[in-house]
Amino acid sequence: MKTGPAVLALDFDGVLCDGRPEYFEAARRAYREAWPGARDVPDAAAATFGAHRPLVESGWEMPVLLHAVVAGEPAAGLVDRAAWLATARRLLASARLEAETLGRALNGVRDAWFARAPDDWVRHNVFYPGVVARLVEAVTTGTPVAVVTTKAERFARALLTAQDGRLGALPIVGREPGRTVAKSESLTRLAVAHRLQAGAEGLWFVEDLLETLHAVHATPALAAARLFLADWGYNTLEQRASVGWSAHLRLLSLGAWAEPFAAWPR
Ligand SMILES: [Mg+2]
Repeated sequence: MKTGPAVLALDFDGVLCDGRPEYFEAARRAYREAWPGARDVPDAAAATFGAHRPLVESGWEMPVLLHAVVAGEPAAGLVDRAAWLATARRLLASARLEAETLGRALNGVRDAWFARAPDDWVRHNVFYPGVVARLVEAVTTGTPVAVVTTKAERFARALLTAQDGRLGALPIVGREPGRTVAKSESLTRLAVAHRLQAGAEGLWFVEDLLETLHAVHATPALAAARLFLADWGYNTLEQRASVGWSAHLRLLSLGAWAEPFAAWPR
């Protein structure tokens, strides 16, 4: 019996790499640039901003979250994803801003930062302990690995290459010109490319966003994939606990990640 994955699919942000220092700085610059009457953002706001990272799905939300933090938004408005979205829309409306404007500002400051000071930009993205070594081991011992992310490929590739040249050539899927591809769609294509049976048995996927894993499981073509929630990523204690009652998800720790595949939770 094969004990490892036929293909190992890995999310990038919150699984391989902690991008929160970069998000904070890019959000701070975008906020300063695009928010009318932007407040001062002290370095100390980074911890609160980072703690609320599990709330955020899209780039435009980051400068709004930063505003919520420095403006002292009540905790009730940041308690979960639904509350946060309502808060974010209200804050946007009161600043007379469009989500798209903030999204563009964030992309703009990130592009400018990466172009002007790539080494500094790379340093603001921190790979989780032991992740790179295990990934190199998987790649060099012949496990097919693909990175499935909505992050722009050139950013993910620059960060992987900076860690280890052997990771620089990994396939990175999830974004096409002009659109973000749903992870269930990217994974379905990956299963086809690797000639997996219906249900994609042999596909293992590590992700830190619980909702994404539920969406993947609900995709018939992926019903037999093994799905892991990375407990070190951008998720909450409640979400981690909920995995215990799920028949189709497993919680993965950094300790388990470092183990041979045969020892990963079943
Ligand atoms: Mg993630």
